[in-house]
Amino acid sequence: MAKICPVCEATRAPLLGLLQHAKDGPICPGCYQLSPKMESIQTLKQFWEINENRRKKFVQTLSIEGLASKVIIDGQNRLFYFVTDGKAGNNRYSFSEITGY
Ligand SMILES: [Zn+2]
Repeated sequence: MAKICPVCEATRAPLLGLLQHAKDGPICPGCYQLSPKMESIQTLKQFWEINENRRKKFVQTLSIEGLASKVIIDGQNRLFYFVTDGKAGNNRYSFSEITGY
């Protein structure tokens, strides 16, 4: 029986047994990356919806390359994400979430 992540409801391949855990149950690795804190599935669902909306409207306007990573920026929607070792991160961050640099 296929396991379904209770946060994103994905049944796609990377689930591989829902090895990661939220506060109250197993979730997929992608949803595990939504928050560094141990959150509840209900809270992660809210984060997932915000992230999905950001992913849908994201339009790259700039990229900044570092030594091992790259930052992809959407200046119109004021969003960004990281690419590390050629792999795009799952999370889309808002400029308003930057607290320091
Ligand atoms: Zn998930």
